[in-house]
Amino acid sequence: MSTALRDELRGEIDEMREAGLYKNERVITTRQGAVIRTNDGREVLNFCANNYLGLTSNPLIIDAARSALDEWGYGLSSVRFICGTQEIHKQAERTVARFLGMDDAILFSSCFDANLGVFQTLLTDEDAIIADQLNHASIIDGVRLSKASRHVYAHSDMDDLAAKLRDASGARRRLVVTDGVFSMDGEIARLPEICDLVSEHDALLMVDDSHATGVIGATGRGTPEHTGCEGRIDLITTTFGKALGGASGGCVVGDAVTVEYLRQRSRPYLFSNTVAPAVLGATIAALDQLSSSTGLLDRLRENTDLFRREMAAAGFDIVPGSHPIVPVMFGRFEDDARLAEEFASELLDEGIYVIGFSYPVVPKGTARIRVQVSAAHDRGMLERAVAAFVAVGRRKGVLAHSA
Ligand SMILES: *Cc1c(COP(=O)(O)O)cnc(C)c1O
Repeated sequence: MSTALRDELRGEIDEMREAGLYKNERVITTRQGAVIRTNDGREVLNFCANNYLGLTSNPLIIDAARSALDEWGYGLSSVRFICGTQEIHKQAERTVARFLGMDDAILFSSCFDANLGVFQTLLTDEDAIIADQLNHASIIDGVRLSKASRHVYAHSDMDDLAAKLRDASGARRRLVVTDGVFSMDGEIARLPEICDLVSEHDALLMVDDSHATGVIGATGRGTPEHTGCEGRIDLITTTFGKALGGASGGCVVGDAVTVEYLRQRSRPYLFSNTVAPAVLGATIAALDQLSSSTGLLDRLRENTDLFRREMAAAGFDIVPGSHPIVPVMFGRFEDDARLAEEFASELLDEGIYVIGFSYPVVPKGTARIRVQVSAAHDRGMLERAVAAFVAVGRRKGVLAHSA
């Protein structure tokens, strides 16, 4: 490595540190769960994982992974079309497609890969992509890989979406793409209106439901179920790395012909290794669990409602909603970015692990602590978290009326 390059990279890393953008990775010494220990010896309550159903260390899920490991082996050393397709891959695809109410599914190593594998495969320079401004990085990168023209609409702005659909009216295919749930706010996409505009303009709709599958909707089937838009979405991408056990893997779910076409042409599918059988055994078990009972979802909803209610009653500025992503906002205070960061750090001293987000991850003046509630939390844990927020809030003058 040339010293010139290393010096340049070192300089940039130093700038990141100075700008407060350097990401430190805290090392966990336990399994993932509601209670974790970090390598400084602290035991903390975890409120920042996407472990919405608490399945990461659930014995049923671990057993299912272990049985799949025993039955199907550790790995396949192959892509799907050479010798990387076992019955468990087909079973996983059928299970997730049925769960989401679509014809078929195609597995990818991650939802990031799934999003890289859609646009360049289905769209050419004759086509157009119309994308929400706040879509996930993997959608942005997937869109970049395609030669289709790009039209970005202001976040959740339906007038702008309509305008962009009009701009793209000359294109052969028009694909609208949005996150189902936006991860910084727990905000749910306006699917009924989006579906209406998509039909009106004879376009297609793709929804990335990574923060919604197994999280929202009466039976955990995500934003289409939550918003009453089942059957109106052409393609859904989602992850197995969040609510559904949290290991890794993702998929595209859609009609049989589109999925068949993706199997022939989608590059991250064709040229990257098949998903490990243990991951699929656990994912199938997670989907079976959701299909047979709403117990975990009920628990998640009760926990979310309780936490949202108590935090609002304590005087915190909570973005209204129903998703277990609960952003606690600091934008009304001076130097909100520093406040959010110090607040999160003091919460850690109180045994509550949460992360503060500020500009440029979120817009200026909207710094926040993003709390993620899980079915793995019990009432006592939620109350300890609220009490810690209140204690730190009083100390920092954030809860003026109760000081
Ligand atoms: C987490 C997330 C992804 C990435 O999923 P992986 O399976 O971890 O690659 C993609 N899209 C959205 C909207 C996400 O929230």
